[in-house]
Parts: sequence; structure tokens; C-alpha cells
Amino acid sequence: MTDTAISFRDVHKRFATTHALKGVSFDIKRGEYFGLLGPNGAGKSTLISITAGLAQASSGSVAVLGHDVVTDYRAARRALGVVPQELVYDPFFSVREMLRLQAGYQGCGKEVWPWIDELLERLELEDKGANSIRQLSGGMKRRVLIAQALVHKPEVVILDEPTAGVDVELRRTLWDFTRELHAAGHTIVLTTHYLEEAEELCDRIGILNHGELQVLEDKNALLGRHPYRFLSLELAAEGTTEALPAYVERLVEDRHDNTIDLKLKQGEDFIGEVIEGVRGAGWRIVDVHTREPSLENIFVELTMDEDSATTGDTA
Ligand code: ADP
Repeated sequence: MTDTAISFRDVHKRFATTHALKGVSFDIKRGEYFGLLGPNGAGKSTLISITAGLAQASSGSVAVLGHDVVTDYRAARRALGVVPQELVYDPFFSVREMLRLQAGYQGCGKEVWPWIDELLERLELEDKGANSIRQLSGGMKRRVLIAQALVHKPEVVILDEPTAGVDVELRRTLWDFTRELHAAGHTIVLTTHYLEEAEELCDRIGILNHGELQVLEDKNALLGRHPYRFLSLELAAEGTTEALPAYVERLVEDRHDNTIDLKLKQGEDFIGEVIEGVRGAGWRIVDVHTREPSLENIFVELTMDEDSATTGDTA
């Protein structure tokens, strides 16, 4: 059995005026919790649509558990559950009927009905099974979307922005649920705009930018490799009028109230020297905080390059 959950091989997608994917190649490993990140227009949805068989690559190939999504699409589809952003449903069906129908489309019979009831329970939908879908709130519909993608117990689960626009409580429920699925052996692929979500959940991160894979790295290595840390100095309000020393001034990222935020390059800028320099200029330091960079800091740095204004560029 293959160790690879999804393999992308030199995937290109050209629309009339846009080269949305420019030769994307990487593997998502079986059993990992993978975060697919990237700014708007990077190509994430296009890559997922191709994987789900909803769009065709212009060239290259995608396989799920070794099954090519074009030539072996039935097996690929069976192995994959995709939680889309939007719910397309027949308003006259109840939640339970709709899930059973969905299982039927996937080639499953009554043997998965107990699993459907379990899904309803785990997504806190157990008392909504008989309701018609149009009676549900937005958050409840979101849960149904997730259940719908899982009716056939796919080994590989892709969640496309599952928490966009949901409240904090549902976000927690969904995070916990995806963690349970992961612990039960499912491969999880998450696309998200919330970087703290990727930071909290994912083992490995891929960053797409302008249709190319820019980063593919273990999350901890990515966080650890980043050569900066942040230092905030709260200065006494009745400070001096002296300027900060030039070598401190060039590290300043932001000033608010009496606080200055500095970005220090590891191995080059030293906290002790900065503090001595600020004190030496006559300032009194009231409080000091340091912070390691978050995935968000790294993401912004990696994707906000000088040509970011051309996101979605033509080629
Ligand atoms: P993301 O999901 O990362 O925001 P998308 O995959 O939606 O990015 O889009 C990648 C690029 O492809 C964008 O420039 C987008 O405008 C373009 N694109 C996506 N779908 C279509 C389409 N159906 N027709 C033309 N261009 C498209």
C-alpha cells in the first residue's frame, strides 16, 4: 500500500487569461494533517477542484492513494471526501435523507447508516436529522457539509476553508472533530485563511503563491527556522526627548502609546544591547516582552514579495 495520500505531479491549469497552476509537484503523506495555505488567488481552490474531479488539469496528474483522479476516478473518489465551502442541497430532503442519498451516490448502502448516525452525533446534529436542510442555521449547514463529505468514510479528507465565517464555538467543535478524525487514521488536508488554525492543527505546511508551491515544510521546522524574534519595550510616559540610538531605530516595526515593537534578527541583534542602548539614551523601560514569530509573521514575509501586487497574474 502506498505511503502517499495525494500526489501532485507537474500540475498546470490555464484559464483563458490566467496560468493558475504553474507546475505544482508535491506529495501529501498518508496520515498527516497537512495545511495548504496561500494568499487569495494563489491556486488553492483550483488544485482542490482538480483533486476532487470537478475540474481538469491542463497537464500533469493527481492521484489519491495511488488512483489517478482522471483515469481511475471511481477509486480516487471513493478514497476522498471533500468538504466544500458551499452547500448545494435539495431543500425538500431531511438532513438524514440527504446524507443517506449522498452515501448512495458514493456507492454505499445501508451498511453506512449507523456511521451516518454517528456523524450526526459527533457533529452535534443528532436532533436535526429529521429537519429539512433549509430550516438549519448557517452554522448547522456547515456541519451538514462536513457530514456529507464523510458519509463513505473516506481515508483522505480535504477541508476547504471549513471555518470561514463561523462563530468561535463552532470553530472549536470543528477543530476537535478534525483532530479526532486525524487520530482515527484519516489524512487531513486543510486550506485556511486563519493562520493560527494551521499553526494549531497541522503537522506540515505547503504554501502556494502565484500558482507555485513556495514552501513545503514541517510546521515546527518552519516556525523554528525563522530567524527573527520580536521585542516590545514599554517606555515611561515621562521619557526623555532623546532619539533612540540609530541601531535600535532601524529595528522598530511599530510604535503605539508608549510601546515600541522591535524585530530582532537572531544572531545579529541582541536584546541586552538594545535595552542598554535605549536606557543609555535616557529612556526608562517599564516593561519588556519577547515573542517568537507566528506562522502569520512567516506567511506574510514569504508571500508579500515585491511582485505581490500581481497576484493572479497572467502568463
Ligand atoms: P485561491 O483558492 O488560492 O484563492 P483560485 O484557485 O481560486 O485561488 O484561483 C487561482 C487563479 O485562477 C486566480 O487568478 C483566479 O482568478 C483564477 N481562476 C480560478 N477559477 C477560474 C475560472 N473558472 N476562470 C478563470 N479564472 C479562474
